[in-house]
Amino acid sequence: MFNALIVEKDEDGKTHAGVQQIDEDRLPEGEVTVAVEYSTVNYKDGLCIGPGGGLVRHYPHVPGIDFAGTVEASEDARYRPGDKVVLTGWRVGEVHWGGYAQKARVKADWLVPLPGGLSTRQAMAVGTAGFTAMLSVMALEDHGLKPGDGPVLVTGAAGGVGSVATAILARLGHEVAAVTGRPETAEYLTALGASRIVPREELTEVTRKPLEPETWAGCVDAVAGAMLGRVLKQMKYGTSVAAVGLAGGAAIEGALITPFILRGVNLLGIDSVMQPYENRVRAWERIARDLPLDRLEAMIRPATLSDLPGLGADILKGRVQGRVVVDVNA
Ligand code: NDP
Repeated sequence: MFNALIVEKDEDGKTHAGVQQIDEDRLPEGEVTVAVEYSTVNYKDGLCIGPGGGLVRHYPHVPGIDFAGTVEASEDARYRPGDKVVLTGWRVGEVHWGGYAQKARVKADWLVPLPGGLSTRQAMAVGTAGFTAMLSVMALEDHGLKPGDGPVLVTGAAGGVGSVATAILARLGHEVAAVTGRPETAEYLTALGASRIVPREELTEVTRKPLEPETWAGCVDAVAGAMLGRVLKQMKYGTSVAAVGLAGGAAIEGALITPFILRGVNLLGIDSVMQPYENRVRAWERIARDLPLDRLEAMIRPATLSDLPGLGADILKGRVQGRVVVDVNA
């Protein structure tokens, strides 16, 4: 028997989440059984702990889109008992049972070996949010961003993606301008390496101006909405925005074609869920190398399985700061 956060749906279609003891024979099919050590909380987890947002197909369900732990049993030659592994994406925790449990069983292809120098706890302080932040930085670099090019904007900076993007970019020698709607996070963001705090209100007014002064050498955008519409018009010539999320809305309000055709600005789509294996390994190795682990420690907010229903609601309301690390065995 092991503990899992189970979400059930009642006859009225309402969901209820709580920790239950379940038998190992309830685990889904898969080649690798993992003794989970840590998981985390993402926006999608908030949806799946609650009504599901259309992501969950079958109830009862175990959410948790990320986990890290130790291989317990493997039918795949790439993994042996005792190996440390990390999983993000592949619709685990949505369509498939996820990491909010002491055990998980998944396809071997979905796993990545934990890179040296990173513990399972640190890997979950990174999680999908940090992994996506690294994918964004890699995409900006692949499109020419170098330290010294000018300020790099990070939107939704006090959230999960934004916090890790801020720390990585600062560590790589970039000047980071962090956009936040929570002024009380300024000290936290400065400690992560932000050299400038940009109040959210400065970028949320929708304007019909075709272009604004060239300001940013790159951008990791977790917000979209009106903010992305404004930021695109403020990008320097030939630079790129990595579009990660939609915390401020799915539409790009006020966006015009002008930044693309008059300044050669690139909008780079970032998806963390279906990344090919080689790119996942590359991103995790870069995380182990380029993310300052002392700054990562400062982002961690510890939690247990029983805290998850409350945390799921909090992240949907934009109330979570930094990275929640769930110790599933606590
Ligand atoms: P968080 O909730 O931790 O952070 C989002 C941040 O966005 C908040 O902390 C807040 O930052 C800001 N924000 C929230 N609401 C608004 C608003 N209405 N207007 C402007 N800013 C707002 O989420 P994550 O960092 O985990 O994820 C960020 C986004 O990226 C989400 O939309 C998520 O779904 C998406 N995502 C996409 C992935 C992919 O593969 N493409 C992978 C992971 C996440 P502050 O308080 O500093 O203003």
